[in-house]
Amino acid sequence: MRLLLLLPTVTYRTVAFVEAARRLGVELTVASERPSTFEHANPAGLVTLDFTDPTRAAAQARAFARELPVHGVVGVDDDTAVIAAVVAEELGLRGNSVAAAAAARDKYQQRVLLAKAGVAVPRVECYPIASDSQELARHAPYPCVLKPLRLSASRGVIRADDAREFVAAFRRLKAMLEEPEVASCGEWARHLLVEEFIPGREVAVEGLVTEGRLRVLAIFDKPDPLDGPFFEETIYVTPSRLTPAAHQEITACTQATVTALGLRDGPIHAEIRYNDEGGWLIELAARPIGGRCSGALRFGAGVSLEEIVIRHALGMELPSLEREGQASGVMMIPVPRGGVLRHVRGVEEARAVPLVDAVEITAHPGQTLVPWPEGARYPGFIFAKGDTPEGVEAALRAAHGRLEFVIG
Ligand code: ADP
Ligand code: CA
Repeated sequence: MRLLLLLPTVTYRTVAFVEAARRLGVELTVASERPSTFEHANPAGLVTLDFTDPTRAAAQARAFARELPVHGVVGVDDDTAVIAAVVAEELGLRGNSVAAAAAARDKYQQRVLLAKAGVAVPRVECYPIASDSQELARHAPYPCVLKPLRLSASRGVIRADDAREFVAAFRRLKAMLEEPEVASCGEWARHLLVEEFIPGREVAVEGLVTEGRLRVLAIFDKPDPLDGPFFEETIYVTPSRLTPAAHQEITACTQATVTALGLRDGPIHAEIRYNDEGGWLIELAARPIGGRCSGALRFGAGVSLEEIVIRHALGMELPSLEREGQASGVMMIPVPRGGVLRHVRGVEEARAVPLVDAVEITAHPGQTLVPWPEGARYPGFIFAKGDTPEGVEAALRAAHGRLEFVIG
């Protein structure tokens, strides 16, 4: 069996997928947007698809599949999830319809569809970035959140509590959207969203959809309050400490979202706020949790999330989707401040904290660290496991406390 794995860049970290494919004895072809210098040396293993032009990407995938049959396709991020749907439709593979994947991709379209279907979502308005922000500030629903239609990792998401903050946030987000590499991405970059701020606890839901039916793989608590003004993530811990009733509501809200968007087959990652009024869908993406964080999840006898995603895409039998017995967590290490990273002290001390599994510093010396909302890259990740979510959370905080980022 051959899996086509769509990667946003040739440098995207693929280790977990490559390992999972190898364990399963699955042939892997990596598709990315730019031709790789290795493509000629390894024509079965690499292929170039034009991610900016779905019709062309479909034709390229079809040409490849004529030479080497493809049995499944997986996209790893927001953009490649849509191309995966295009390829799945073209080759008749398991996956989402292009319309459903595209609706999930666009924050505005998603809100409109969900509101129509009766899913609880924040009220939202979409405005051109050319709008008069003073004028909009007069009518905004405070507290509110300004955000781009398609960036990710909370990039450009800013809370405003009054007209003055609104105008400042508008200007800041507009400047981000006018950066050439963003502005060239399409019409969506000329708009922004203003929506009501939903207070409450936030969870992330990791799930797998089969023929439209959601199975929840994990619910992660986000124990640090995400009240803004920026929304950099920090700690994820599972199992969630919310009540079983809350879990039920969160699951129902996620399933209603999957149904409303028309998602049929594949992994989903959702963010949900939970308060006195119940579950509020903040966002659902038709892809697995980003990059390294999937390392916090193990199922049955040590199966990875990537293995489940690959098996599902290929229609292979699924192992137990029961998460391992232990509590598990990951901390996306916050950017302490902007500047050039010189050195990180205390890594060994952090690794020595009981329950800590791994401390991975992904930023390299000389790299410029950019704080949110302009930034979108965490300088590293801490993983911990233990008997209780409380213990795991405390271990993550203790390990983080031992790290010192020397920024010059
Ligand atoms: P991204 O795709 O960049 O992750 P999101 O729309 O998911 O953008 O927003 C990032 C984070 O910002 C969310 O996880 C949440 O904590 C916060 N957030 C976004 N919109 C709202 C809102 N309307 N109310 C409360 N918090 C929000
Ligand atoms: Ca999100």
